[in-house]
Amino acid sequence: MWQELIGQEFSVKVLQQAALDSKEALTGKVMPGFSQAWLLTGPPGSGRSTAARLFAATLQCEQNGCGKCISCISVNTGTHPDVKVIAPQGLSYGIDDTKDLVREATLMPSLGQWNIIILEDADRLTTEAGNALLKAIEEPAKLTMWILCAPSSKDVLITIRSRCRIVSLRTPPADAIADLLIKRDGIDKAMAHFAAHASLGHVGRAKLLATDEQVRERRSLVLQVPFELKDLPSCFAAAQRLVDAATEDADIATDEMDEKELNNLLRAYGEGAEGVTKRKVERLASSAKKELEEGQKKRYKRITRDRLDLTLQELAAFYRDVLVLQTGADLELFHTEMKGSIQRFADSSSVNSTIKRLDSVESTRRMLNSEAAPLLVLESLTVQLARA
Ligand SMILES: [Zn+2]
Repeated sequence: MWQELIGQEFSVKVLQQAALDSKEALTGKVMPGFSQAWLLTGPPGSGRSTAARLFAATLQCEQNGCGKCISCISVNTGTHPDVKVIAPQGLSYGIDDTKDLVREATLMPSLGQWNIIILEDADRLTTEAGNALLKAIEEPAKLTMWILCAPSSKDVLITIRSRCRIVSLRTPPADAIADLLIKRDGIDKAMAHFAAHASLGHVGRAKLLATDEQVRERRSLVLQVPFELKDLPSCFAAAQRLVDAATEDADIATDEMDEKELNNLLRAYGEGAEGVTKRKVERLASSAKKELEEGQKKRYKRITRDRLDLTLQELAAFYRDVLVLQTGADLELFHTEMKGSIQRFADSSSVNSTIKRLDSVESTRRMLNSEAAPLLVLESLTVQLARA
């Protein structure tokens, strides 16, 4: 079951031992690997959510994660009644989102050994929301287990993270990703290696790059940007294109989800009502629809920002490749397929300006987490890149 999580041998051992120790702890023994609050960290695409799910399955399974029993299967398909996966809809978790969670955390498990709550993107907890959760995490109910996920521990409120046992995933090596694409998805060797490097260690992204030509095209458009920044109009045009590319990715990711959710909702409200009841149901349906659409809007905004961040990571990797060639460092390039043009770029600029450009990209990534309008932020970036 754990082979799904690639390149994380050390963390897998820690989590498997933790699950064993947790079973012992249930008998009243004091076990070193036991904790009721975990924080799994790792860069996007390294497999945080997968690790959390597999850990939950291992905790619930009587054979410590056999992958075959009804308990393992139901956790892995998202249907286990005692494993709840919570993800923020918008850019952050608010106080209202956490009230229900605090209640959930007091429940006893109905079938499994533990009542497990997986909180994805715990870095998006507002201070208020974090404080509301703090007590539930600090003094958990006897059979409640928290598994929080975040890009890095420093992104999580210190009050929360200081209560958690931390397990850090690393960026999976490109060779391991290529291997997975070949074995699991039947992708040919050359494409698998290209996608593994181009994905910057993001497993899901690697599969998309290997299988979707449009994703590859958008990526190469992004990587043309450094060559096009000459004057103000070209900077503004490039910024617009970066935003468009992220928006198109987000459209594809959300359209299908949105439609399915709306159909489910209409079906839930639409059947069997007559007369006065029917009008009442219609009123309820329209307010539920409004609520759903608001949630979807928030999610769309979040996914667009996530894609933009990915775009910026690709740009950062480009300038990092430039720096590698400029300094003659003995490192493999991320964008190997464009080595020729990266070399020309490296020859025509200085190490100093490359470092400035890398700084600009990094500070832009931080700014995107605020409420600032993405297009403005990116226009300011492209202008900085042109002037560096
Ligand atoms: Zn099992």
